[in-house]
Amino acid sequence: MDKYSIKEVELLFNTSVQHGLSHQEAYKRLQSDGYNEIVSVKKQTIWMIFLEQFKDPMVLILLIGAILSLFLGEIIDALIICLVVMLNAGIGTFQLVKSEKALEVLQAMMQPTCKVMRDSSVLIVETREIVAGDVIEFEAGDRIPCDIRLVSTTRLMMDESLLSGESHNVSKNEFYRTKDKAAISDQHNMVFMSTYVTSGRGKGIAVSCGMNSEMGKIADLLNEDLSEMTPLQKRMNQLGKMLGMLAVGICIIMLMVSLSKGKNFLEMLLLAISLAVAAIPEGLPAVVTIVQSMGVSMMSKNKAIVRKLSAVETLGSVNVICSDKTGTLTQNKMSVVSTYFNHEFDQEVPAMGLVCMACAQNVAIGDILVGDSSEKALVEYVMPRLSISDINCEYLRIDEIPFDSVRKKMSTVHQKDQDQYIFSKGSLEHILKQCSFIMIQQRKVPLGEYERKRCLEACAIMENQALRVFGLCMKKSSLTNREYESDATFLGLVGLKDPVKEEVKDAIERCHEAGIEVVMITGDSLKTAFAIGKECGLVSHEKEVMSGSDIDECSDVQLKNKIKTIKIFARVSPSHKVRLVEAYQKEERIVAMSGDGVNDAPALKKADIGIAMGKGGSDVCKSVSDIVLMDDHFTTIVKAIEAGRNIYLKIQKSVFYLLSCNLGEIMTLFFSSLFLTQHVPPLCAIQLLWTNLVTDAFPALALGVEADEKQVMKQKPKPTDESLFAHGGLIFVICNGLFIGTISLVAFKAGLKTSDLCGQSMAFMVLSLSQMFHSLNCRQIHVSMFKIGFFKNKWLLLTVVMGIILQIFVCQLPFMNMLLKTIPLTLTQWLIVFGLSMSTILMNELSKLFN
Ligand code: ADP
Ligand code: MG
Repeated sequence: MDKYSIKEVELLFNTSVQHGLSHQEAYKRLQSDGYNEIVSVKKQTIWMIFLEQFKDPMVLILLIGAILSLFLGEIIDALIICLVVMLNAGIGTFQLVKSEKALEVLQAMMQPTCKVMRDSSVLIVETREIVAGDVIEFEAGDRIPCDIRLVSTTRLMMDESLLSGESHNVSKNEFYRTKDKAAISDQHNMVFMSTYVTSGRGKGIAVSCGMNSEMGKIADLLNEDLSEMTPLQKRMNQLGKMLGMLAVGICIIMLMVSLSKGKNFLEMLLLAISLAVAAIPEGLPAVVTIVQSMGVSMMSKNKAIVRKLSAVETLGSVNVICSDKTGTLTQNKMSVVSTYFNHEFDQEVPAMGLVCMACAQNVAIGDILVGDSSEKALVEYVMPRLSISDINCEYLRIDEIPFDSVRKKMSTVHQKDQDQYIFSKGSLEHILKQCSFIMIQQRKVPLGEYERKRCLEACAIMENQALRVFGLCMKKSSLTNREYESDATFLGLVGLKDPVKEEVKDAIERCHEAGIEVVMITGDSLKTAFAIGKECGLVSHEKEVMSGSDIDECSDVQLKNKIKTIKIFARVSPSHKVRLVEAYQKEERIVAMSGDGVNDAPALKKADIGIAMGKGGSDVCKSVSDIVLMDDHFTTIVKAIEAGRNIYLKIQKSVFYLLSCNLGEIMTLFFSSLFLTQHVPPLCAIQLLWTNLVTDAFPALALGVEADEKQVMKQKPKPTDESLFAHGGLIFVICNGLFIGTISLVAFKAGLKTSDLCGQSMAFMVLSLSQMFHSLNCRQIHVSMFKIGFFKNKWLLLTVVMGIILQIFVCQLPFMNMLLKTIPLTLTQWLIVFGLSMSTILMNELSKLFN
């Protein structure tokens, strides 16, 4: 499309740059061409995932076990082992599919949007609904939604590294090109899907969408790998492997000991294999993944979209939040509440002031206003006083120097008759620098020291009222003048009110209780930032504020010391943000940093948790962030941290439970082979497998939905390198494992008085039922289950009750007797079984009492 003129492209796509497509036409094209999205071709089917499950070494061990049982003539055993393998693979598949679904839903929630002209007005549309022929507008920070032929540009620079691999930015324009075939990087009048605007703005016609775009052609390279393991998952994997190895070692010892005691080799081998299977905590990494992805879905309901699973873990350790001001702490709903022209507050604004406000802005004016909220406030102020469309006709815009957060101002250049008018607005310091005159009662007079001082004082008065202040100026010159931002005439000031969000004050207090420091980082002025900071309880003293230029003067070491007391950094540029993150990280802090602008991306990448604004943030920011806030709200950050802490606790509970159960199973068999002299083991292989795979898995998951602990936000953040087993976790696991092993053997002994089979049945029952009861202990390892509300976790109670009923059936039903080699127990025996099993609760409650 680069070789066609704009007129030709308009004709080709039956569209018009002036009016865009009509709504009906866009709808029709969407129906016939499909969504503008890249469909990944590689997609695992459920069957592929199911087959994957059989790669697990545990399955292999189990299959060997099945073959062994066949040798022993135990056909039912072999069948049951196969059933267990299938069941296990089934559960694994279910878990994976479920967490993948959760991720898909999240991705769908992050549907990007873009600005499109339809029926002559600009609106914001989901990127996937773009069709060929749409007229699209974009500016710094935006991600290009499809391949676009440019029709107008202002200093447009693009980052096309994703397509071309070249890291420097390329400049683009709309000019006609005659050369025949050009490489993508030479098509300077085209911009391509998924590349980013680094500065300037542009407008163009969508020419190829979805899979027809250049990006679509190389889509396969793009499939992001979301399945990368988080640190905790990796640690669990390692732990699992280590414990597995340990278990295999114990199995070998047990096998040798029993052989030396003259027991049946094949039978003992089968038992050793079952023990290995029981002891390998195969559920460990899975439980982490599931609890995490459940947590992520919960967080998305609370308006925080997690882009990287590992963020969930880091979140719990965050101890300093660096927050934006505008839109995060404040509402980003601005209105002009104060003006200063002709050295007078709040009087009629002179015509030139209004014209300047009408010109130096980029709001799309349609049924609703679309654009920067402070510029919208100016437009809303001007509208009842002056017709903006008349002004636009009178002063024809010919150029623009866009706003960026380093310059802190913007200028537009206009032509009126044979004169050139330049209107600028921005922070007063920066505007005053380009002014040599001031307009007083429509007379242009030199801007002396005295005048400057008066303006600065007026500005300070506004800023102390927490207003965001814009200085306005203009310059009239000949059309050939290229010196846009000098010798201008100062017009006046406008003060914008941007109220603090209501819940922010409480949220900051909650952070302080939770040992999390809150810091405001803003491009706005010191005084405004301080006034806002005071309103939301962030600061009380001016000494806690520092400016960007102060940061420049600090060495790294000085800055490291400064950040201990500073709570607000004002008038900063994006590059300062990077330095600040580095300084905090040198202090061993875990930093969550929010950002919205194009230039914030490096700081967000550097922060431990990069947070992008979902509503007001640029696409570049979102692409590098760990978390996107759908509502741009500070409280959402705090909620996300709370969720992160809770998810960690839930994982901890499930892990403690699984490990103490596995340990209990190992101990039962290990102790018996060491200390008991019976010729039968306390449990037969099949019973052990049943306990491990049927009764273990569900309570562990139910612990994952345990209610959030209210206390979490009253505690200090957890160090990132802290072990999962810190604060008594290890002792809890070991003591409970030993205890479960011991009571199972006591039951075995008691049953042996009747018969071998009875002994095994009773040991089997106590081993499985004590685990059911033990799951209740794991809800909070230091707090009594009656204190946290016995009935609170309905799922857990349900699994426990179901598990108990199931095990009673296992003993009392003849069919189950045959399958699992059990016998019905008498009432006294059941009482012994339940007494022993429930003693885990007694033991834990007692120890919690003395804690
Ligand atoms: P923050 O987002 O932290 O509130 P910004 O970087 O948006 O800060 O703004 C910093 C300063 O830049 C503001 O105080 C204002 O003077 C100026 N400014 C902000 N937006 C614009 C704009 N659209 N045009 C001109 N100047 C602006
Ligand atoms: Mg801003």
